[in-house]
Amino acid sequence: MPENIDLLVLAGAVLTPSALAGAPAEAGFVAVHDGQIVGVGTRDAADSWRARAQRVIDLGDATLTAGIVDAHIHPVAGIGMTRGVDLSTAETLDEAQRALAAEARDAGEWVFGWGLNPNVFGAVAPSARLFDLLPPDRLAFVQLFDAHSAIASAAALERAGITGAETFDDSSSIAVDADGTPTGYLLEHSATGRVTRIVPSLTFDERREALVAIFRGMAETGVTIGQMLDSSDPDAFDLFDAIEAEGELPIRLRVSPMAVPGSAESDWARLADIQGRHGRRWEVRGIKLMIDGTIDNGTAWLREPDTLGESTASLWLSPPEYVAAVEYFHARGIPTTTHAIGDRGIEFVAATLNGLERTGVPHRMEHIETLPDDVLELIVRAGVSVSMQPTHCTHFTRADHTDNWSRRLGDERADRAWRTRDLHEKGVVVALGSDWPVAPYDARATLAAAMLRRPAGRADVTPVLPDQALDAPVALDAHTRGWWRSVGESGGTIGEGMPAYLTAFSANPLSADPDAFATAEVLLTVVGGDVEVDRSVVVQR
Ligand SMILES: [Zn+2]
Repeated sequence: MPENIDLLVLAGAVLTPSALAGAPAEAGFVAVHDGQIVGVGTRDAADSWRARAQRVIDLGDATLTAGIVDAHIHPVAGIGMTRGVDLSTAETLDEAQRALAAEARDAGEWVFGWGLNPNVFGAVAPSARLFDLLPPDRLAFVQLFDAHSAIASAAALERAGITGAETFDDSSSIAVDADGTPTGYLLEHSATGRVTRIVPSLTFDERREALVAIFRGMAETGVTIGQMLDSSDPDAFDLFDAIEAEGELPIRLRVSPMAVPGSAESDWARLADIQGRHGRRWEVRGIKLMIDGTIDNGTAWLREPDTLGESTASLWLSPPEYVAAVEYFHARGIPTTTHAIGDRGIEFVAATLNGLERTGVPHRMEHIETLPDDVLELIVRAGVSVSMQPTHCTHFTRADHTDNWSRRLGDERADRAWRTRDLHEKGVVVALGSDWPVAPYDARATLAAAMLRRPAGRADVTPVLPDQALDAPVALDAHTRGWWRSVGESGGTIGEGMPAYLTAFSANPLSADPDAFATAEVLLTVVGGDVEVDRSVVVQR
């Protein structure tokens, strides 16, 4: 027991592992020193610690949990992907068109939008009809909600020199109509990149400011750690360094750069080389891969084509090269996590991971959107964890299957959507996340969606496969300890010797109505022993 401690936090309920296991959550304290939890106990026992604490934070009757972790975020890519008007709440094409027209009035040379759900186009493919309310010569570019596709105006296509279909090194494509004229719809990164690289860029300082605001926003919803799963922005490390030159990152960040489809051993060697690069709160660790794209864009890898005859192949034109990439990193002790959405893609990744020698390197899979029983068993046998995004299910699909995702899959495969409960009950470690900016990063809404299988605050919406809902303690565990387990590290619980990551809410996620919990206040976050967000009554000694 250290003589003096950095921090003593008092709360009305402290959600220790025994509280998550069903014991009554008692009022208590957590003592923190040197980035670690050094004491946990009941409120009565706090007095002996109080005198030795540099700082005491009394949260009254609030609930203290292990720190929330978002297992899947794109904060730096999100700077560019969230430029312009937020279209994520547009429910009709008309609404989206009007929002863009309003944005155009104050916009510069380019009109930007993001977060658009392709469901606004109904049964037809997304196209530059989106810009019908803008003058035809207007430069406009809108990212779709899944961040895998975009729509460019005719003027933007012209400036980018896009005049028809093009061939790429991966399965990206430029949609064209019957005459071969581009419709404005661009699928996957190589195609969207044809336009993003001619878009005027933000200055480094503008990007740094935007990034701090993104991290700050995450912290204010309770997030203490995030895993960034991309390397699309070459200035990312410089941005982190620039932020840390002036202060701290508001959350701890693990960066797992991407070995892109089609990459070769020389690329993998570079990614292996930068493992361990770090600042104070960020570190490069692990590798992200992608076996397929998305159901919505017809770029997932399914056993049988979707109802439009698409989603038939891996993003890797030669899937054995994906296997070689995973083996390359595994042999060097580098953890991987692979985006796998379609049933064949998930199967291929699970089989690949199953084939690795069991050396304790933790591997994970992302998304797992449509999962047949036999592939679920393969994941169990592979002994890997999964990272899932409950809000992708609740925000982008509908129980009646009238959404694009479900229509493309058909009833049978749509009824295997986001099987969080089945995976958990089979013993697979589940880590929750948002995939921001694909879905909002608010951890309270993610937890509520995991428990409700519909968006928080929308009792009018029919839940999607409600038997896949997670019970509150399981959901909270998956949004805290689940990530730590998925990366093979000890943490994510409130106990002596654990790393000090904490989040406090004004409501208890184990007992509150999930809709009400989604609007609870975040009162405190502690990141590696340091207080980051503090909306409590602070008692300074
Ligand atoms: Zn992602």
